[in-house]
Amino acid sequence: MVHQARKRFGQNFLVDEGIIESIVRGIAPQRGDTVIEIGPGLSALTKPLLQLLDHLTVVEIDRDLAGRLRRQYPAGSLTVIEGDALQVDFSQLGTGLRIVGNLPYNISSPLLFHLIAYADQVVDQHFMLQREVIDRMVATPGSGDYGRLSVMLQSRYRMYKLFDVPPEAFNPAPRVVSAVVRMVPLPESRLKPQSQSAFEKLVARAFTQRRKMLRRSLNDWSGLIDWDGLGILPTARAEELSVAQFIALSDCLLSAGALKG
Ligand code: SAM
Repeated sequence: MVHQARKRFGQNFLVDEGIIESIVRGIAPQRGDTVIEIGPGLSALTKPLLQLLDHLTVVEIDRDLAGRLRRQYPAGSLTVIEGDALQVDFSQLGTGLRIVGNLPYNISSPLLFHLIAYADQVVDQHFMLQREVIDRMVATPGSGDYGRLSVMLQSRYRMYKLFDVPPEAFNPAPRVVSAVVRMVPLPESRLKPQSQSAFEKLVARAFTQRRKMLRRSLNDWSGLIDWDGLGILPTARAEELSVAQFIALSDCLLSAGALKG
């Protein structure tokens, strides 16, 4: 039966065989890998992945598509989790996870934030997203794309933009250009904030007024900050601070009692 694409689930199905091949080559799956695919849809990636893997787990919110997948593939090689990827507890799916997907663009940022909590169990993530989102993920301080998404993800992953994908590669075609990103969790020895929640709060607050001087946007906290000691100019703006400087600033505000752990 023909499936009618559902807009509310961000359904744009990949139809370009060359692009599908490039994505699978980028993932480079090995037989025994523990791969989780988010949003398998009509199997554009699922099918070639299953040809290379012993087993694949998929998470699909659309009940019709989940049913179709169950009928199409033997349960021994494909596990279908029917539900919202934002609600999935990935810690239940094992360790050494390789997470992949042509993500529904309407939930891409919340999903990327949701997955941060499981980064310790992840080997890598390969996602197709709106190109504009990937540009923000990999942006460097001082560039217009640098913001909360860049800082939060770069504090946890090394990221590589792999290639662009034009709208014609999908059916229906989205209105935007897409791209593929590889995300590799940073090692245990990475620079870490003393409190992840304090770090999240600081970064969120700093970027609510990205172009304002931090001294102003952090107003009541400003007097507690040893700007010189941290090597941050008091005239600095959020969009100019490196990830390491945000971590140092968050630790400073935590010890000053402005932020709770
Ligand atoms: N992987 C397929 C492809 O490349 O053609 C489909 C990609 S389509 C952009 C996104 C897929 O994610 C759809 O199958 C959609 O039903 C599913 N989806 C949307 N929201 C979801 C959610 N919250 N959790 C899991 N799957 C979701």
